[in-house]
Amino acid sequence: MTMPALNLSPAKANRSLPSRHLADLDLAQRREAVAELGEPAFRANQLSHHYFARRETDVSAMTDLPAASRERLAEALFPRLLTSVHQAECDDGTTRKTLWRLHDGSLVESVLMGYPQRATVCVSSQAGCGMACPFCATGQAGLTRNMSTAEIVEQVVSAARLSDEAGLGRLSHVVFMGMGEPLANYSRLVAALRRITSPAPEGLGLSARHITVSTVGLVPAIRRLTEEDLSVTLAVSLHAPDDELRDELVPINNRWKVAEVLDSAWHYAKRTGRRVSIEYAMIRDVNDQPWRADLLGRLLKGKLAHVNLIPLNPTPGSRWDASPKDVEREFVARLRAVGVPTTVRDTRGREIDGACGQLAATQRSDDPQGGTEELAHAPRGESRKVAL
Ligand code: SAH
Repeated sequence: MTMPALNLSPAKANRSLPSRHLADLDLAQRREAVAELGEPAFRANQLSHHYFARRETDVSAMTDLPAASRERLAEALFPRLLTSVHQAECDDGTTRKTLWRLHDGSLVESVLMGYPQRATVCVSSQAGCGMACPFCATGQAGLTRNMSTAEIVEQVVSAARLSDEAGLGRLSHVVFMGMGEPLANYSRLVAALRRITSPAPEGLGLSARHITVSTVGLVPAIRRLTEEDLSVTLAVSLHAPDDELRDELVPINNRWKVAEVLDSAWHYAKRTGRRVSIEYAMIRDVNDQPWRADLLGRLLKGKLAHVNLIPLNPTPGSRWDASPKDVEREFVARLRAVGVPTTVRDTRGREIDGACGQLAATQRSDDPQGGTEELAHAPRGESRKVAL
């Protein structure tokens, strides 16, 4: 098999970032920003409260601000970042995918999932992705650009609002398992994690334990994250216990091998005390053999780890399919037999292309007006037009 092109940190990845937004700044920077606009520093707290606690982005509704200041503040700190161009729901309305258009026309998606005891949003960290994993729909189109801190945070704020409105309960969990490789957009990711976990009014005040960052295994970035003292949960997309197969399934493995990735993960686990989640997409006759389960078990035995098996969501154009259930059961049994905690991920959002690896929003190339957009990679080659 030919190796897909890897695009780790292309210079153009930061082009077209949007203008500064309140959520790009920490509280001290917000105070400076309002002072530069000729406002008293306490406005920073008022604005932060509106945005993070009340999830209000319309400055005209912030009636405790002097009318004369509102427009100036809106212009300087609340540029429009995300425009919803399509929403789809399934699982009786408990799974809701939103397609967002960014200021430069890039499209990204986020997915809200309501469960009896929690509500989780899966967010994107980049428009597209440069990691080129051959089974993942997002990876096929390559990287468009990094998302800004505020673009990442705004997905969470919007999901918190939607979760309340839709009766799904208070948003409690955030997983960075949407489009993009979060650790390839490192500084913006870390700032977003701080906004999400800082107590109000500085941030949203979610528990770091309820935030999961999923990575292909960018070893230097995992080591850096270990030093941040953030205590978010780390998920490593392993998908194969041996380098030969992982080189193909997760091309970054050609740079950082299984042993190095796991070593950095165990460091992370040791420092934070948090169990690392090992993600493993079950691909029929590719990585689901009993011997691979045994090898994986040997690598993970006795470690602070948990295996999350993801039934492969087939993407159009891919020759791969999910493993049969009996093969999956055998794989789970072999891991559990050596004491490795293992669960199988639910397949929420499948029919709206909202499940793992299915996010692949693209702009229609034959529609320069942007009047309609199409979600590419609908199952089995169908495509749906979405009115704006
Ligand atoms: N770039 C990050 C986040 C991506 S998506 C990462 O790779 O971890 C989150 C998970 O979904 C990853 O484990 C990814 O490998 C997995 N995934 C991607 N495509 C998939 C597919 N078609 N079926 C099942 N899981 C998939």
